[in-house]
Amino acid sequence: MRVYLHTLGCRLNQAEIERMARQYAAAGHDVVADAADADVCVVNTCAVTGEAARKSRQLVRRLHRANPALSIIVTGCYAQLEPEAVAGLPGVLQVVPNAEKDDIAPQPDNARPDEALPTSGTAGRTRAFVKVQDGCNNRCTFCVTTIARGASRSRPLSAVAAEIDALAGAGYKEVVLTGVHLGAYGRDLGTDLFTLVRAVLDGTAVPRLRLSSLEPWDLAPGFFDLWQDGRLCRQLHLPLQSGAARTLRRMARRTTPAAYAALVESARARIPDLALTTDIIVGFPGETDAEFAESVAFARAMDFAKLHVFRYSPREGTAAASMSPQIDEATKRARSAQIQALSDEGGRRFAARFVGRVMSVLWEADAGARGRVWRNTGLTDNYLRVWLDAPRVLTNTITPVRLASACDGGLCGELVGASPDGLLKQKPGYVHPGGHGLGPLPAQLTSVAASL
Ligand code: SF4
Repeated sequence: MRVYLHTLGCRLNQAEIERMARQYAAAGHDVVADAADADVCVVNTCAVTGEAARKSRQLVRRLHRANPALSIIVTGCYAQLEPEAVAGLPGVLQVVPNAEKDDIAPQPDNARPDEALPTSGTAGRTRAFVKVQDGCNNRCTFCVTTIARGASRSRPLSAVAAEIDALAGAGYKEVVLTGVHLGAYGRDLGTDLFTLVRAVLDGTAVPRLRLSSLEPWDLAPGFFDLWQDGRLCRQLHLPLQSGAARTLRRMARRTTPAAYAALVESARARIPDLALTTDIIVGFPGETDAEFAESVAFARAMDFAKLHVFRYSPREGTAAASMSPQIDEATKRARSAQIQALSDEGGRRFAARFVGRVMSVLWEADAGARGRVWRNTGLTDNYLRVWLDAPRVLTNTITPVRLASACDGGLCGELVGASPDGLLKQKPGYVHPGGHGLGPLPAQLTSVAASL
């Protein structure tokens, strides 16, 4: 069977769809890159905002138009919240609740879902997202996640470590631990995230380990001692949502600007060159001009390397949906543009700090040939996008690079420290998959770039 997989939304959704891909491949099915070539399609939807829900519906319609014979299975948070609307979309064969999505793809023989998956056929990939936790026990007033994904539950530590070990053995160079509320990992099992990270670093050979979003109130300063191991990527995504204390209270966030700032100070003291990124919601009910100005000033003071900005949209069943006043769309758009400008500025400032430094880059993809050189692109562990013209494709290797100048929304690098023979020779028999010329980035890379 030929299967096409598509995900929208967060890294947890991405982790789930990647796991399905490994399961389908292990069971002998073809995971194809184009819906037009598929018999079956699985869509992992998102409902974090009204816009995400709209995009989820639009995607299903588009897939059906592209291939009317396609059997579409829809799961994820939007499917969970509005199963009847999803079932009525064209081409939809089945709507699967979140709690049953792990059973969509064929299960490996003799393995429970929590055991390590066979990873044959996945060699050559660079980064894998591994779900270690699902659900959330908090009640942030804007969030549908607790409705869509239920209470927090964790995967056993040994199962996570075994899966990561298998991924490293299959050639993955980086693993990202993901969860809806990653910092709550292990509370239901009598362990914690610190212990999990320590166990993965000690028990597997994965070259890089990255943590996805962490709620700031879950972290104690001692947590940052983990970064004494250089394989842990120096990036922290700590969702702030607002930099104004009053807005945070209405959101029922369990932090204050002062507590957040203290945490950031302690993280930066222990993790040199840390990339700090965040989420901000603009136009939360009752957000006055003064509150927004306070939020911007705080965000500026935190000097984020990147801010993901979300325009608030009321989600049915959440407390904030019935708060007043709701903020008009024009104000939300203007505030969003202001936060986006702050993010762009912060990103440029952060990247500029590293010009002239030598750092290791995990090469993720190439954007084609330019004459006799290949344009490679990848990320440093602290999430700097780097471009490098080299005589060969470097994908899925980690090499040192001198960061020479700012370019193309990131940094342009120069090769250093390798023997010309070792690094510069064209791989024998290598066939470039994308033809010549600087074409668009591969889909895998554009989704990575979009998540930066
Ligand atoms: S911590 Fe808050 S925002 Fe995050 S998933 Fe839980 S309820 Fe939603």
